Amino acid sequence: MIYVIGIGPGSKEMMTLEAINAMEDADVIVGYKTYINLITEFIEGKEVVQNGMRQEIDRCKNAVEIAKTGKKVAVISSGDAGIYGMAGLILELVSKEKEDIKVKIVPGVTASIGAAAILGAPIMHDFCHISLSDLLTPWEVIEKRLRLAAEADFVVCLYNPRSKGRSEHLAKAFKIMGEFKDGSTPVGIVKDVGREKQEKFVCTFDSMDFERVDMTTMVIIGNKSTFIHEDQMITPRGYTV
Ligand code: SAH
Repeated sequence: MIYVIGIGPGSKEMMTLEAINAMEDADVIVGYKTYINLITEFIEGKEVVQNGMRQEIDRCKNAVEIAKTGKKVAVISSGDAGIYGMAGLILELVSKEKEDIKVKIVPGVTASIGAAAILGAPIMHDFCHISLSDLLTPWEVIEKRLRLAAEADFVVCLYNPRSKGRSEHLAKAFKIMGEFKDGSTPVGIVKDVGREKQEKFVCTFDSMDFERVDMTTMVIIGNKSTFIHEDQMITPRGYTV
């Protein structure tokens, strides 16, 4: 049995009861060490298998092997496991196995939803998630999605916006979307959602400060109707008020 658990963006308050119950039910916890550190209180006394970033395939293969021994395994993802998390990889691996291994995906609060609540109501209308990481996706595909999402006036939530190795991706993304997004379009930046160092900034597309953004940041770019009120970002649903 494998639980694939989204633990939310960081704080205990943003974990679902189902996630907590699944962690408590598991015999073995598998995950990236930063996330394991966020859930220590729920996994006391349990066997823990942790490894570093970019070892996702090994980690998930390991989880499948442990499940085959009859133990209940919990694979931990931050946010939601089905959004740039481990859910897909686990299901792909299990689909190749002859043995019948049960998998339960436990949903979590993804970073965009956590950030949106902190910013106000920026994703009240149609929106999309785009990851700026080209580790698993060719950059040309990312560019095309950015351009078309901006042209279609989606609210855009950027995951993996800026890392040390890819510090220029965010500026490039803004240049591409700038063809269709007005300079006055509101942009919300939330760092470390649900964690101790949580910080929020609201600015406009033209006044965007890329330096504020790192790898645990969510960037939300509004649509043509989004406006800023005090320090909140609001995208009208269309009601007449
Ligand atoms: N499965 C995760 C996403 C993993 S991809 C989820 O559903 O949230 C990693 C990216 O998610 C980061 O680069 C960042 O853009 C975003 N992210 C994850 N946790 C975050 C947090 N606590 N605060 C802000 N952004 C976060």
